[in-house]
Amino acid sequence: MNHSSEKKFIFNTVERNGAAIATLCDNIFYFAELGMQEFETSGLMMELLEKAGFSIERNLSGMPTGFVATYGSGKPVLALHTEYDATPGCSQQAGVTEPTPIIDGAPGHTEGHNVNAAVMIGAAIAIKQAMDRFGLKGTLKVFGAPGEEQLVSRPYFVRDGHFKDVDVALHDHIGTGFGTVYGLRQYALISAEFTFKGQSAHAATAPWNARDALDAVVLMDIGWDKLREHLEPTQRSHRVITNGGDQPNVIPNKAAIWWFFREATAEKTRALFDKAKRIAEGAAIMTDTSYSVNVLSAVWPTRANRTLAEVIQANVEQIGMPRWGEGEQKLVCELQAKINKKAVGMPTQIMPLKECVQSVSANDSGEVSWVVPTGLITFPSNIPGVSYHHWSAGVSLATTIAHKGAVAGAKAMAASALDLFMDARLVAQAKETFKAEIGDTEYRPLLPPDQKPPLQLNRDLMERHRPAMRAHYLKDKPVFS
Ligand SMILES: [Zn+2]
Repeated sequence: MNHSSEKKFIFNTVERNGAAIATLCDNIFYFAELGMQEFETSGLMMELLEKAGFSIERNLSGMPTGFVATYGSGKPVLALHTEYDATPGCSQQAGVTEPTPIIDGAPGHTEGHNVNAAVMIGAAIAIKQAMDRFGLKGTLKVFGAPGEEQLVSRPYFVRDGHFKDVDVALHDHIGTGFGTVYGLRQYALISAEFTFKGQSAHAATAPWNARDALDAVVLMDIGWDKLREHLEPTQRSHRVITNGGDQPNVIPNKAAIWWFFREATAEKTRALFDKAKRIAEGAAIMTDTSYSVNVLSAVWPTRANRTLAEVIQANVEQIGMPRWGEGEQKLVCELQAKINKKAVGMPTQIMPLKECVQSVSANDSGEVSWVVPTGLITFPSNIPGVSYHHWSAGVSLATTIAHKGAVAGAKAMAASALDLFMDARLVAQAKETFKAEIGDTEYRPLLPPDQKPPLQLNRDLMERHRPAMRAHYLKDKPVFS
């Protein structure tokens, strides 16, 4: 893997575009678009890729904010993919260590997916330039994956065959450290909304004429809580009531509850979901209502391939940790103290390569990792100690801390792709170790085969806030060279 002059070229290309990567990171930070509503974000990403010479397929799997951009032809086919959605109610000023919304109640980036997107675009443009410069054979595919916070897009992409000809994939996600892992990393998840239908009536004068759909929702909730004691402690399940009726004097003829079911394996998650359907059936019988269930998405656990992890790690070691300035470390320590964490600052050492411990969170990138050997790049753009989906996790995301971490991440992603394009044996080896890692686990998607993606997700919320948010969009657009 000692492709020294090619590596030098790719590192220089990323560095030269450091300002463009930073501007893109900040553009998306201020767009702060929720899942499935990332129109400004995906629009800008597609514009940049198109300008760089990629051909764009829009509306991937019928999702207006999903896309794949392609450059080159033939084998190997290498995919980059990442997410770019924000979180609701989390608006936060960058660089301010107090809870300070840009717009009160509006969405904000508090997970760092704005930086994920900037890293991927920065890497894609550098890889394309290296392909041209060194006459590398193969195809680069860049996937824009909407709605990660609701685990939406990639199970649909995989189901619809968009990863069928892909040989290896790289996914990037923000973290506080710089490095990679291998092994089973996160949980499987089924996201499903149960809707009960009954009959309305005047709640005071004729309640005996009603069949109360909200009662069914409440009974399903209680039923699941009773069951919880008898489920394995590995499970996680949580819900919100998305429709509880309109007003107390009308008994609701329609009510709905939205659940996330999580387990360590896909099959265990499927079993949880089957139990939930039986409880819903019971609640419907008790209330003389009927129910239907809509699966919004369903994903397998994320896993990372060891061969690709070794490729990434070698590059991370060569790149090294960004050098943090005094002002940056001061901001970090100030925030850490503010949220009652040890004021340790930003890490200064890269992470050693290791097998991961499976966490209870999920990412829909997991679906890809069971059909294509997948490498995961974690880059240091967030602050140790912050908790995601909290104002503190938004503080660094449009500052030089995020920008430096993004340049490091883009270098690692681009250099790893370069290694794979230049050495066919690495791709073959990744496929071999992938086969061994999967073993006899049979990939059976959790997503129903005829399921349609939830395009309306977050639409009302985003439309409510977007007009005020527009005033904060950056005037500058990134210019890559
Ligand atoms: Zn995330």
